[in-house]
Amino acid sequence: APHAASAWLDELNPAQREAVMHGIGVDAPSPLLIIAGAGSGKTSTLAHRVANLILHGADPARILLLTFSRRAADEMGRRVRRILGRAAAEHPWLAQASLEWSGTFHGIGARLLREHAGRIGLDPAFTIHDREDSADLMNLARHEAGLSTRERRFPLKGTCLAIYSAAVNTGAPLAEVLQSTFPWCAEWEAELKALFRAYVAAKQAQQVLDYDDLLLYWAHMMAESALAAEVGEQFRHVLVDEYQDTNPLQARILLAMKPDGRGLTVVGDDAQAIYAFRGATVRNILDFPAHFDPPAQRVTLERNYRSTQPILAAANAVIAQASERYAKELWSARESDARPQLVSVRDDAEQAAFVVERVLARREEGIKLKQQAVLFRAASHSARLEMELTRRNIPFVKFGGLKFLEAAHVKDVLALLRWTENLRDRVSGFRVLQLLAGIGPKSAARVLDNLAAAPAGCELLAEQPVPEAARAGWTEFAALLDRLRAADAAWPASFELACRWYEGEMPRLYDDAAVRQGDIAQLARIAATYPSRQRFLTELTLDPPSATSDEAGMPLLDEDYLILSTMHSAKGQEWRAVTVLNVVDGCIPSDIATRSSVEIDEERRLLYVAMTRAKDHLELVVPQRFYVTGQQGLGDRHVYAGRTRFISNRMLGHFEQRSWPPPPPELRGTPDSRQAALDLAAKMRGMWD
Ligand code: ATP
Ligand code: MG
Repeated sequence: APHAASAWLDELNPAQREAVMHGIGVDAPSPLLIIAGAGSGKTSTLAHRVANLILHGADPARILLLTFSRRAADEMGRRVRRILGRAAAEHPWLAQASLEWSGTFHGIGARLLREHAGRIGLDPAFTIHDREDSADLMNLARHEAGLSTRERRFPLKGTCLAIYSAAVNTGAPLAEVLQSTFPWCAEWEAELKALFRAYVAAKQAQQVLDYDDLLLYWAHMMAESALAAEVGEQFRHVLVDEYQDTNPLQARILLAMKPDGRGLTVVGDDAQAIYAFRGATVRNILDFPAHFDPPAQRVTLERNYRSTQPILAAANAVIAQASERYAKELWSARESDARPQLVSVRDDAEQAAFVVERVLARREEGIKLKQQAVLFRAASHSARLEMELTRRNIPFVKFGGLKFLEAAHVKDVLALLRWTENLRDRVSGFRVLQLLAGIGPKSAARVLDNLAAAPAGCELLAEQPVPEAARAGWTEFAALLDRLRAADAAWPASFELACRWYEGEMPRLYDDAAVRQGDIAQLARIAATYPSRQRFLTELTLDPPSATSDEAGMPLLDEDYLILSTMHSAKGQEWRAVTVLNVVDGCIPSDIATRSSVEIDEERRLLYVAMTRAKDHLELVVPQRFYVTGQQGLGDRHVYAGRTRFISNRMLGHFEQRSWPPPPPELRGTPDSRQAALDLAAKMRGMWD
């Protein structure tokens, strides 16, 4: 092969090269598994493999790359282009090759379903509900089934949705799901079944799909053998990163597309499985080789290129305690004298002050804010730090947690767009109708019932039965809706039109309308980067960007900003310096995940994931007490905590322990310097005598 000897391959170690070269030149290479520890180059090997396939003639349009987030997919696309650019300087067109089919399972599922909807009896104009919309719809169904008021102990909408979702994603019978994961709801099995039937019927009547449906319908589509063969053929090569966090439904889809595994490459690390709570199972990756005959080829990588040796040693010590573990040897050639730090602070406020001081000091040393990350177990744990960063004017971006698109006013506008697209979408319609002056829940329901009864395309919006007081506003709004719904409504001009109407309503809806208007303007800028309304809605619903990040298609130019992220959202990434907040029992392991050793092990892996994000500097902060926000009627309170159980006394040798703020000067230094410090302190106080 002309490129096989290129210098870019020499940068890979032999095991990585083996994975990159596996079956190259063969039409349908046999299945391949790369299973290896953190930072061993799994993701970069995958990027090299994609590039190598393209270099050897694979059509980029027929490569399907599945990643855990859209951000990861974009990053992978950039890497592939970079490698191609270098590997084939003589063929510049190669660097332009872009992966059309890279994204999350849900995102790709949505696109395939739109493409083939007609063939499985699905209306291609379906809208997609995010989790909150789904919970609202579940709630409507629950009310209609009379399950909320008569029996007060019946599970809340969020729990109902979680149970439903677990059953769908694991494929397990409801009774089993209840038994294993929601035992306190087991008595409601029959009622839940009835509720889920009503929920599914409501989704069908309104032509909406929830997140789980994107996988469920995809799997259903793959059960049609003609379609499965077609889609399997469309994608010559299917590559999956972070395979340890896929669920049974996702594995089913994959194996239906590639029954003999030919063209299939999966990559992952069982020690980093952190999504069992959402139905993911590590069995997918462990059972992968034996699923095929002959078994899939397995490549393991042992050298960690990311972290210094002391950081890796500490992380290895944490994961070594896991009860179920497939031991891997992981080593690093990056020597360093600096052990990770275990920093004791008094409370949340000191923790925030400490982080700010360290972040700024490192920036002085030349480590950009973007190369530093602060990680935490729960999104709410960074509240104090966010305040402190804002006060000190330090820019930051937050991943995982309440996002821009979850703000009420942003949801209003999105609901308007969704309803424009699909008048039968009740959750969106309910939200939009009540934005109008004079329309409450009762009249909104009446309008929606009326619309549902009308044949599609003959809705006669202006003639809907709204209360007299709302008539004038309604006539104007109905005209707007008609314009937005017109087939030739231009994008993003139609978005501007919708925004202008909404901004007129805002002062009546929100006291702080002026502040919120900035977000609407931001949303308009994001909208303008999408080719159509449908694409905009689909992608935003599936993978919402955060308000300030450059992934929103809003480059922050050269601006530097600190990264704040939940541990879950940090997976796959790396930074030069990483600070982990609240490394105490009750936070990690979280006090809601200490019911079983299985849950505790998942928390341990989560800490391992957090620690292995660091390249050069790692700090774990241990507050002596931390703040708990009201749970189970206990109200907000301080609790005293101890260092996480995942770092035992025997492991302390891996860390440098210190407390912050440092002890006062009289306790430090030589006798002379101590005396000088005391003198200075006395003098400064003396100024005020
Ligand atoms: P994780 O388990 O966290 O997802 P990973 O196994 O996917 O990690 P990568 O993110 O691909 O690891 O790589 C970690 C770091 O090591 C990256 O900075 C990457 O560029 C670097 N790296 C990988 N392979 C090599 C190599 N052969 N030579 C030099 N650097 C490498
Ligand atoms: Mg990776």
